[in-house]
Amino acid sequence: MGTFVFEPMQPQPQPQPLLGILGGTFDPIHLGHLRLAEEMREALNLARVHFVPAAIPPHRARPALSPAARFELVRCAISDQPAFVADPRELSRNGASYTFDTVQSVHADFPAHHLVLILGMDAFNGLAQWHRWAELFDYVHLAVASRPGAVLSAGAARLLDERSLSPAQLPFYRAGGIVSLPITHLDISATAIRSALVAGRSVRYLVPECLLNPLRVHYSEPNFGASLSTQSASE
Ligand code: ATP
Repeated sequence: MGTFVFEPMQPQPQPQPLLGILGGTFDPIHLGHLRLAEEMREALNLARVHFVPAAIPPHRARPALSPAARFELVRCAISDQPAFVADPRELSRNGASYTFDTVQSVHADFPAHHLVLILGMDAFNGLAQWHRWAELFDYVHLAVASRPGAVLSAGAARLLDERSLSPAQLPFYRAGGIVSLPITHLDISATAIRSALVAGRSVRYLVPECLLNPLRVHYSEPNFGASLSTQSASE
């Protein structure tokens, strides 16, 4: 993570409500994503969490499931939590799905909220590879969650050190802070779920119940798994 000089953050007198954004490939969504969103919602008192599936993830192989299929699975997975929203904004944009464009667009739609971009530690470690990553701090706070197997990189630790805020401080700062929280460790990844599906193994209790049938149908499609990726999460 290169050196970058950031403007100092200024607190505001009045707190503002917080809106969470959880972006991802969601190929497919699983209980690790849902628990991440739920624990962040509770710990940070987020009014809502928007789940934003990437249409074309910039730094990884083409997903096994189409953008429309991944979005439908997200919709189904979150249907019993009114504070969760399936947000299709990246599906209607052309070209690579950059998080920077997404946070700018959410910011324009919800000016009365402070935005909190939720990331697992593996994704936070790769932040410096993201398109216009340093400018993200003009629009959002980051909430970084522990994840099994992920260890904070030296660059990410320095950034966290510079911009660390407590959960209670977030509503008083417009953007630019980072909170790091330990969450329940669920060693679940979409990669492992795709591998299990291809090998004909059960994915019950790794994904919400309502995904089991749709995933079985997708799995039987001729091209499913053709682009199976072992890459870890990125933008
Ligand atoms: P893949 O295995 O295909 O790379 P993934 O399971 O990492 O996928 P993504 O859609 O790439 O899922 O992840 C979206 C976001 O959710 C990322 O910030 C990632 O760090 C986080 N995340 C995913 N799974 C977990 C988990 N089990 N615990 C904590 N965070 C997670």
